[in-house]
Amino acid sequence: MTITGLSSAEAAERLATFGPNRAPRPKPPSLVSRVGGQLRDPMILLLLGALVVVAALGDVADAIIIAAVIVLNTAIGVVQEVRAANAIASLERLSAPHATVLRDGEPVRVDSADLVPGDVVRLEAGDVVPADGSLLEAAALQVDEAAMTGESVPVARGVDEPLLSGTVVTRGRGLAEVTSTGADSALGRIAAAIASAGVRPTPLQQRLSTLSRQLVGLTLALAALVFVLGLLRGEGAAEMVVLAVSLAVAAIPESLPAVVSVALALGAYRMARQSALVRWLPAVETLGSVTVLASDKTGTLTEGRMVVQQLWTPTGASRVTGHGYDVAGEVVGDDEPESLALLLRDVVLCNDARLTTAEDGQWGIVGDPMEAALLIAAAKHDADLLRLGSLWSRVDEVPFDASLQRMITVHHRDGAWLTVCKGAPEVVLDLLADTDVAQRARAAAEEFAGRGFRVLAVADTAGASQPARSELDDGLVLRGLVAISDPLRADAAGVVSACADAGIRTVLITGDHPATARAIADELGIRSATQEVADGDMVKRGEHVAAVERIGVYARTHPEQKVDIVAAWQDRGEVVAMTGDGVNDAPALRRADIGVAMGERGTEVARQAADVVLADDNLRTVVVAVGEGRRIYANIRMFLRYALAGGLAEVVVILLGPFLGLAVPLGPGQILWINMLTHGVPGVAFGGEPLDPEAMRRPSPPPQQSVLGQGLFGQILLAGALISIVSLAAGLLAPEARVQTWVFVTLGLAQLGVGLAIRAPRAGVTWRGRGLEAAVALAAVLQVLAVTWSPLRSLLGTDTLSWSDAATVLLLSVVPGAVLAAQRHRQSRRRVAPTSLASGGSA
Ligand code: ADP
Ligand code: MG
Repeated sequence: MTITGLSSAEAAERLATFGPNRAPRPKPPSLVSRVGGQLRDPMILLLLGALVVVAALGDVADAIIIAAVIVLNTAIGVVQEVRAANAIASLERLSAPHATVLRDGEPVRVDSADLVPGDVVRLEAGDVVPADGSLLEAAALQVDEAAMTGESVPVARGVDEPLLSGTVVTRGRGLAEVTSTGADSALGRIAAAIASAGVRPTPLQQRLSTLSRQLVGLTLALAALVFVLGLLRGEGAAEMVVLAVSLAVAAIPESLPAVVSVALALGAYRMARQSALVRWLPAVETLGSVTVLASDKTGTLTEGRMVVQQLWTPTGASRVTGHGYDVAGEVVGDDEPESLALLLRDVVLCNDARLTTAEDGQWGIVGDPMEAALLIAAAKHDADLLRLGSLWSRVDEVPFDASLQRMITVHHRDGAWLTVCKGAPEVVLDLLADTDVAQRARAAAEEFAGRGFRVLAVADTAGASQPARSELDDGLVLRGLVAISDPLRADAAGVVSACADAGIRTVLITGDHPATARAIADELGIRSATQEVADGDMVKRGEHVAAVERIGVYARTHPEQKVDIVAAWQDRGEVVAMTGDGVNDAPALRRADIGVAMGERGTEVARQAADVVLADDNLRTVVVAVGEGRRIYANIRMFLRYALAGGLAEVVVILLGPFLGLAVPLGPGQILWINMLTHGVPGVAFGGEPLDPEAMRRPSPPPQQSVLGQGLFGQILLAGALISIVSLAAGLLAPEARVQTWVFVTLGLAQLGVGLAIRAPRAGVTWRGRGLEAAVALAAVLQVLAVTWSPLRSLLGTDTLSWSDAATVLLLSVVPGAVLAAQRHRQSRRRVAPTSLASGGSA
């Protein structure tokens, strides 16, 4: 009886009854609890305290301003939190696991969440079992249950045996009927336990929260100093409390956590729109500091659209004409017809791919592109060959495995048995009895590999009874070699050189022959005088560790060895991104600082082990993601520079003012107003700033470096000093009665000017990318309103400015921004001059 699975109608009905097949999610916090969370922030608590003091004093104006600041801060905080949560939720949807299930008798790919009890799932090597089930069919099926039972050796599973969700199929194929889903399944029970553990902050968030705590301590100490000095000058105690609290609130960049989490979440979201799905948020920060990119060859740097180019049999050689998946083409050469027919028969039989009806003269393919290419070559010779699969039924198999580098199938037809083996020439040719032929084939294979072809050797043996499992390798006779081309992606060399510009070294890892790998590496520009080719045996002996800097290409490597390669680089302090797609790649993907899985070609287990999934399988996307990672880091640093410089200036003005004869240069309400203007809107806008193109033309700073490193601390001091100087100058130049107004306007506008001066240069940025300018313009207008619109004037205690006063204040306000812009201009001229020579051609 053929197994048809559920009908779609039945499945939909059961889905409604049993619910989705995923771990129950914790409910998102309600708006009220989000607001509550914001109000519990220590800074806001301080403000609430100040509000009580001010209200008790009957100071209505300041009470209104403080209340407004609390409301605004809470609103911005909640909005940002919701935006971040939404971005993360849509990321989760995008990277949801999939499964192949029989519906109405046809295999379809569905979200694993849509599985219901009774569904029949199809499983193959690399799949993660999506729900608990029981096997209906099993062919050489092995499962790794380490994730569920801790047992690390894969176990064989046969018909009627149970499968646990969350375990991994490492070998073979099977059909399983789903018995339980969601919270009832093994994975669901574990997931519930994990979910309650909560989310940990990312390393950057941890470092920044340390920084925040230090800043809070420092600022509170300074505020206390302001309070004490005020009392000594004979100011009222209550007024001084309010001033000190306002100062503390203004100088601390309380929006920092919001800016960071939004920058991370939105950055991850932007990456997703460019085909890089981030599965683990901290990866976003690490991405920017990647220094080594260890990449697969097939399908990542190459197109993965394989075409058989040459055939070789012991009797001669042939060429296969035609392009890509075109139907047109033929086999021309001097092989004896019978030898050619046997070789092509074997590649059709020992094959798991399928061709679908051609459209526009093109074959559609299902399965491994290389195996499909073999079918296409056979069809070009004789379309009837494709029917052999149904004549010779398959009775046994050893599926292809990247560690064994070969596959074997056993077929039966009218009392005759045929065993076919195809795989890497080194593996297959060593099994042959006839060493003479093997020797000739070796030379031919070597020659093909040197021309960049991937080579397969094909052998078979016939018998009168079914061979035992242990005898599959016996008596093999060589049928021939197949040379397959896989063109490099058009921009593959561009990706390698873009990485080099950004300080990232590309390393090629492949299961292919060293000669094939060498030819490809030459074309990519990976191999040079300093970069050698190593092979898997060298890694096995551990000899790559000492030579790791000199190895640009690893050939004939087994997936398990990728872990050792990653480790060797990491021991040198490098930050390694590693690509992978197969079932054996999961450990390396986990070990790498950034595991990158292929979304189209990759197995489910590789995707689930990875930090980043490339939806388009294109290595270029990694470069894009690295750029986003650097952008986020640069934007957070930019925000710190802007916010801390402003805060510093506010503290300096209040502290030094009295010594220059300006008793209270700014009122508490004015400080809070400036804080609201400068931090609120423009602060958040920094998260959306584009990346300075220069940042991808130099190496990134090491990840362990302080966020304030690389001169940022000095830049903050400089900007803070400039703003302080012009603000104090404004106070000294102002007529006696207008000191606060002058200082107020100058301090606010000067900060905005600094904000504009330090942002990334923006050639060709569209209006949508002008969020920061818009935010600054809005803030500037509000600042002008604060001294021109009478309700605001009475609220803030400011005066009007005459036109000439305004001109003086404006002139002072632009000075800090202008100085920083000029300094930046000088630096970039100095930097561009030498590098434009070095990387002239690659832009
Ligand atoms: P890559 O790193 O290029 O993906 P693989 O590990 O997939 O390399 O393949 C390694 C070698 O195994 C290939 O060079 C080829 O000789 C052989 N091989 C690959 N796929 C198959 C297959 N489906 N059947 C038999 N042999 C294969
Ligand atoms: Mg492969």
